Order: sequence, then C-alpha cells, then structure tokens
Amino acid sequence: MIEKVSKALCCGCRACESACPKSAIRFEKDANGFSYPHATDACISCGKCLKVCPVNTQTEPQDKSEIKVYALQNKASEILSESSSGGVFFELASYIIQNGGVVFGAAFDENLKLSHVAAETTEELKPLMGSKYLQSDMRSALKQVKETLVSGRLVLYSGTPCQIKALHRYLGKAYENLYTVDVICHGAPSQAHFDRYVQYIEKKYHSRIKSISFRNKSNGWKNFCVKLCLENGKVIIEDIHKNLYMRAFLKNLSLRESCFQCSANNYRSGSDLTMGDFWNIERTSATFSDDRGCSGVMIHSEKGQKLLEAVKNRFVCEEQSLELLVKYNHVLETSVKKPANYDAFAKAYFTLDLNKTDDMYLCGSFTERLKKRLWKILK
Ligand SMILES: Cc1cc2nc3c(=O)[nH]c(=O)nc-3n(C[C@H](O)[C@H](O)[C@H](O)COP(=O)(O)OP(=O)(O)OC[C@H]3O[C@@H](n4cnc5c(N)ncnc54)[C@H](O)[C@@H]3O)c2cc1C
Ligand code: SF4
Ligand code: SF4
Ligand code: SF4
Repeated sequence: MIEKVSKALCCGCRACESACPKSAIRFEKDANGFSYPHATDACISCGKCLKVCPVNTQTEPQDKSEIKVYALQNKASEILSESSSGGVFFELASYIIQNGGVVFGAAFDENLKLSHVAAETTEELKPLMGSKYLQSDMRSALKQVKETLVSGRLVLYSGTPCQIKALHRYLGKAYENLYTVDVICHGAPSQAHFDRYVQYIEKKYHSRIKSISFRNKSNGWKNFCVKLCLENGKVIIEDIHKNLYMRAFLKNLSLRESCFQCSANNYRSGSDLTMGDFWNIERTSATFSDDRGCSGVMIHSEKGQKLLEAVKNRFVCEEQSLELLVKYNHVLETSVKKPANYDAFAKAYFTLDLNKTDDMYLCGSFTERLKKRLWKILK
C-alpha cells in the first residue's frame, strides 16, 4: 500500500512507519543513501500509512496576504553568534521551556547521527541550535510528541516544512498546546552523504570529528564557514565554497529527490511560524548591516503571532514585506532544479575517492580546477 507513494515525492518523514499498527513498514536505503518505505507481509491493508503521509494528498497554499514578515536580530551577542541566522529559534524555544514545555528539534548524537530529540532545559537546547545540512531522523520523535501533547504540556516542534506537514498529518487533529516552526528549506542531503564526508575528513586528518558547525560566523554571517573540531585538537575553518560537502549541497547534487518537487514549500507546511535568513536585508535597512546575522520570520497564525510577541523584546525588530524576503529566497515558493549530473554525481560520491569526485563535479569553472591542480603540485 505505501508503495503507492512515488519515490520522487516521498520526503522520508517516517510518519507512515510511526502510524502503522502492525509495524509492517521497513525502510530501505537506495544507492544515494536515502531511505524509502516498503510494506512487509505483516501489512493488513488498513490504509493508515497513506492517511498520515504528507505527500499523498495535495494541500492548498496559505493566502499570502495573511502572512506577516519581520526582520529580527537577537540582542544577545553570544546567542546570535551560536545561531545560524538571527537567533530566533533559541528565544522561541526558551519561552516554551520557561513555561514548562518541551522543545523538539534536530541534534547530533556522539556518533554524528542526526535525529529529532526533545529538550526540556536551556542546557538541553544547545545541541538543537544551528543548522545541520542533512536530513534529521524523526522516527522516535513523532510518538513522543503525541504523548507530550496529550499530557497537556506545551510543545514547540521545529523542522523542515515537510517534517512539520508530516507531524500535523500524523497527529490528525489540532492541539492548542502545540506550536510549530519550520525553517526556510531548499533541500537536505542524506545521513549517508554526511557519513561519507565524515569518513573522508577523519582519514585525512587521522582523527575523529568531535563537533561540526555548518554556519560558523567567524568570517561574518554572509560569508559563513564550516568549522570542524577534531579530537586531536585541530580546528578546521573552511569557506563554504571551498568545503566539499557544502559545495555538493549548494549545487543541489546531494539533495533528496523530493526536494526537486517539494510538496511543503509555497506556504503549505501548516506551521505557525517560518524562520530563515533575511538575505540582503542590509540593502533595505541599515539597522541590519553589521553582518552578524538577521532572520526573516513569517507569521502564519494567531498562535505564531502570540509566541513572537512573547519574545519580541529580545530582538531588534522591523516589519518587512513578504516580497522582499522571497526576492532573495525563491525556495519559499519554488523547488530547486534537479541537476543534469545528479545521478552521475551520486555514483561517483559513493564509489570514487572524494577528491576525485570534487574535481569532477564540484570545482565549478576551468580556472578553479586549474588552481586546485596547481595548488596540489606546489604543496
Ligand atoms: C536543511 C536546511 C536547509 C535550509 N535552507 C535554507 C535556505 O535555503 N534559505 C534560508 O533562508 N534558510 C535556510 N535554512 C534555515 C536557516 O539555516 C536557519 O536554520 C534558520 O534561519 C534558523 O536560524 P536561527 O538563527 O533562528 O536558529 P538556529 O539555532 O540556527 O536554528 C536551529 C533550528 O534549526 C533546526 N534544524 C537544524 N538542522 C535541521 C535539520 N537538518 N532538519 C530539521 N531542522 C533542523 C533545529 O531543530 C532548530 O529548530 C535551512 C535550514 C536547514 C536545516
Ligand atoms: S496499510 Fe496499514 S498495516 Fe499496511 S503498512 Fe500501511 S499502516 Fe501498516
Ligand atoms: S512521505 Fe513520509 S509518510 Fe509518506 S511514504 Fe514517505 S516516509 Fe512515509
Ligand atoms: S525541500 Fe521540501 S522535501 Fe526537501 S527537505 Fe526541504 S521541505 Fe523537505
């Protein structure tokens, strides 16, 4: 039954697996490391999996005229520097925790596997902060959210638009104590893509990676870097355009197929708020010209407005237009295009030496490739 969902659309949210009363859904990885569901012989054809699947039925976009937009920058510099954009997530989450609630978001475990986990204290919030550019596993979070909501506690659930849509479908009804916030999202690579990169770095530097930040601001918010801390004490800070993993991500070569036909963009996730980068805001407002990070936040519901009002005094804040936010973030309304060499890249990435894959697919121009070769010879 679940095989009816086309591979091109399945976002890998695992709502089907969580809803199945017979534990009859198994996930198998494709050659690109993305997992897809298959029904086993235990399936009784009850249809619950299709009912919760966020891509199985069409959703109408929200009327754009209802959406309010703000540019926000956290006033606390230590929060701002640890956050990818303007530090909105931390304040929303702290408010929920201070009011006895639970916050769900993406965090790495000690083996750098990314999944959705719960935080109930400010200390537990820290691993949820910062963007991680790969797909987070929601397998165990969905049931836990439902139980927490039923117990009457406040919940803030954060994730990509497809994950928020999946959560709503899985819950099947509205909960007054649930707040949802999604990130502006152009796509996500698989855990397997990331594992391969981790392996490559650990072999190259003969040390395990202790932590990774995809959005280090030491060169500013706009020219953000990837920062790796290794167990041997070495710290690597690399420009995103030089970082192999980020190059593949930004060229859309490592994204899941569903990201090329996203069924949750264009104001269809059902979240209360959306947060992302307010790129080029400094061209319109000098208030945000310090290059320390600015968030673009969309408010979709009364609940979202209420939550923002509760924390607004923590920010430098200006109301802005939706048109301005979309102008530099087209992915809010349209999916990115699948690159022509997507399949060839996937094959190379998982079979060839990563330096070779980098040379073949990621070092854009001829000059860039030439520079890289010369650098290697001179080293
Ligand atoms: C895969 C991905 C793609 C993105 N693409 C864009 C884009 O194209 N344009 C844009 O403007 N912004 C994009 N963002 C959003 C942006 O990078 C920031 O996450 C967002 O602005 C929040 O920043 P902050 O400073 O408020 O808080 P931060 O502390 O930086 O944000 C942390 C929040 O992000 C969530 N999060 C982190 N990684 C993941 C993940 N892998 N899956 C689900 N949730 C996650 C955490 O749960 C937490 O809620 C993307 C984020 C992700 C995760
Ligand atoms: S049809 Fe029912 S039993 Fe079969 S996989 Fe779906 S939810 Fe599970
Ligand atoms: S989109 Fe989610 S619910 Fe639908 S088939 Fe894929 S993993 Fe299952
Ligand atoms: S682009 Fe769409 S399908 Fe892909 S991760 Fe983002 S929200 Fe999900």
